[in-house]
Amino acid sequence: MASNVAEITILDGGVVVEWADGHRSEYEARYLRLNCGCAECVEEWSRRQLLDPAAVDADLRAEDYLLVGQYAVQFLWSDAHFTGIYPFDLLRKLCMCEACEASRADAEAS
Ligand SMILES: [Zn+2]
Ligand SMILES: [Zn+2]
Repeated sequence: MASNVAEITILDGGVVVEWADGHRSEYEARYLRLNCGCAECVEEWSRRQLLDPAAVDADLRAEDYLLVGQYAVQFLWSDAHFTGIYPFDLLRKLCMCEACEASRADAEAS
């Protein structure tokens, strides 16, 4: 497993990432799916989102994942989409736990 991620688990269709520093992130599949940065979901030159959030099922699930080298992970979603690559540093930024939300709020305030 890559240096900054200790373990990735698919749990009840969602994704749990255990980080090497002991931090734990839990993600809803749909939330990660909506943050997909592949060329199908985001226009490459403008970064405009092409993916229509309304088109993504509320009960979307993660089915499987594949590590991409030492720095990223690719998920297979229940809508058969799998082209998105999620670098670990992006995943960490997407963490929705209270501690990460609070540190983001601090960063915005300063
Ligand atoms: Zn995508
Ligand atoms: Zn967090």
